[in-house]
Amino acid sequence: MKAYRLPALGTPAAFADAPEPKPGPTEVVVEVQGAGICASDLHMQSPAYPVNEIMRTWPMPMTLGHEVAGRIVELGSDVVGWEVGDLIVAGAGPGCRTCWQCTHGNSAACQFAGLQFLGVGRDGGLASHVAIPEENLLDRMGLPPEIAAPLPDAGATAYHAVKAAHGVLNAGEPVLVIGTGGVGSFAVGILKAITNCRVIAIDARDEGLELARRMGADDALLAGANNRDEVLEITGGEMCAAVIDCAGAPVTVDLASALTRPSGEIVLVGMSGGAVKVGPGHVQPGVRAHFPFGSNRRDLVDLMTLIRDGKVNPVVETFPFDDVVAAYGRLAAGEVVGRAVALFD
Ligand SMILES: [Zn+2]
Ligand SMILES: [Zn+2]
Repeated sequence: MKAYRLPALGTPAAFADAPEPKPGPTEVVVEVQGAGICASDLHMQSPAYPVNEIMRTWPMPMTLGHEVAGRIVELGSDVVGWEVGDLIVAGAGPGCRTCWQCTHGNSAACQFAGLQFLGVGRDGGLASHVAIPEENLLDRMGLPPEIAAPLPDAGATAYHAVKAAHGVLNAGEPVLVIGTGGVGSFAVGILKAITNCRVIAIDARDEGLELARRMGADDALLAGANNRDEVLEITGGEMCAAVIDCAGAPVTVDLASALTRPSGEIVLVGMSGGAVKVGPGHVQPGVRAHFPFGSNRRDLVDLMTLIRDGKVNPVVETFPFDDVVAAYGRLAAGEVVGRAVALFD
């Protein structure tokens, strides 16, 4: 079958012939309907990608695609609770499955999982079919593939980040989202759905601001040297209850630190070299900083419920699977508005 594969870490991905997947005892084979196109797939192709010991064990070539919506077409011998024909979404890593955190629904806090899940250490969803461990599957609540596909990574990561700050987000208070691409735009929509805050968005691209407004941002500012003053002008001098930094660059982390009110929260989602310094002279008293990497299954279920009920309306740009190369090109050039999704017919 035709698959979009990485020959080795740090080398360009390309279409290649891959074997049809067979399910292990606790796996299912899914006919892929939609697969999310993520910037981390581009990072894995960069010669500068930091390869650790675990990654050296990944089987190569490896089909990319770590966000999948599809239909179950074959069950492994020991699979329980799933049927052929079930419409599923899959992605987020299941953790080690045995530690206290994993068995209590908080796999994002697992200390023992090797980084290995769909499209990241095993074959992913950028192919007509993919084998998926049953613990990665969720019913997709009737959502269409182009809406469900980008939720396991981009959507659930944003939900997990917003929940990290949820306790300080009082009605009417300003909250700032920096970087409104695939993840940050979801954060804007989720904030508008589950809080009554005034949501201010900053992005370096006009497309990002347009997307933030479509997701419900009250104010949208082009990234620039005067952002601190511009935000304070909007709020009448009030600092933000929380800043969710989906860029994560040194300059955006400085902005987040300068704009978070006493006892507020800085949530660092983006990983572009920035780090929050906590202490006198760096942040206001009582400020807490989070680095909420990834998400839990619960986050994905909560987000799908909000979308099903019409409270969050994701913006996606779809591409036929055959145009995946062009889709990654548009993503690399910063031209994708919302989340890019490859669709299969
Ligand atoms: Zn991703
Ligand atoms: Zn675990």
